Amino acid sequence: MAKPTDYAIYFDSSLCTGCKGCQVACKQWNRLPSPLGHNEGEFTGSLQCPADLDGNTRLIQTFSEKDSGNKFQPINWAIGRRSCMHCTDAACVEACSSGALFHDKNGVVNFNSEACNGCQYCRTACPFDVPRFRPEDHRIDKCTMCMDRLEKGGKPACVKTCQPEALQFGTREAMLARAKARVEALKQRGYEKAEVYGENEMGGLHVILVCKYGLPTNPQKKAVHSLSHVIRPVTGVVAAATVAGLALSWVAGRKYHRDEMTIDEAKKNWTPEQRAKADAELKAALENRKEEK
Ligand code: SF4
Ligand code: SF4
Ligand code: SF4
Repeated sequence: MAKPTDYAIYFDSSLCTGCKGCQVACKQWNRLPSPLGHNEGEFTGSLQCPADLDGNTRLIQTFSEKDSGNKFQPINWAIGRRSCMHCTDAACVEACSSGALFHDKNGVVNFNSEACNGCQYCRTACPFDVPRFRPEDHRIDKCTMCMDRLEKGGKPACVKTCQPEALQFGTREAMLARAKARVEALKQRGYEKAEVYGENEMGGLHVILVCKYGLPTNPQKKAVHSLSHVIRPVTGVVAAATVAGLALSWVAGRKYHRDEMTIDEAKKNWTPEQRAKADAELKAALENRKEEK
């Protein structure tokens, strides 16, 4: 359950100018390289660049351009944000068998790259297709909400750089209240489809958006069939069988103990020959002990 005092990033698409300063600030602060070759990025016909997240790109602004039919303003822009959403119910954390991905302080989903084994089950499980593989060091990479900055009382680098204040940072409670007020204001101005995204999705996201361009309406965890997921149920069955076996032998042991005859009870069933033999053995044993003393 997300707590009101958790951290959250707020992104308001209706205020974003599409400058991509946030993308650049993220790369700069986190020392993530970009391809520097001439015309290395392919032009896709959209202002979106790069086209997708990758092992060196934790954040992209998504652009959806549509013909407006208005010759003075020919394009309608819909700008979204793609990065880790810091889900309360984080599918990546669940899928990670090495403990590299974990819930950090105040709702942030962080990762320890030293522990990552590069299996990429986190990416398969993530409903937002976020964690990405870095071939250079055979590990995944994703947004950490700039935890190193937060620990020193700062804001995430992307938020800090945003001039029109489309990005904000604060408690989740404050960011949700801001988003709800903004959506209300947009609706009053005729934008009926304006909506808050992130309040309840995946148990509550720690990125709260005003308008959700390019994001799934009802995000769900994706199935991951990793070795650990196969082994976990098997070890569960083996453990259950062991416990059941121990329980049965305990019951059997109790039964055996309860039905066990004492030597005097057993003697009652002996034949005269058995009794004579036992008496002789006992007598011999007592005499031996006397001699030892
Ligand atoms: S820095 Fe702000 S205005 Fe510029 S693209 Fe990012 S969110 Fe939009
Ligand atoms: S958006 Fe994906 S990577 Fe980020 S916390 Fe949620 S499941 Fe994990
Ligand atoms: S919070 Fe930090 S790591 Fe995450 S997208 Fe913003 S700048 Fe990048």
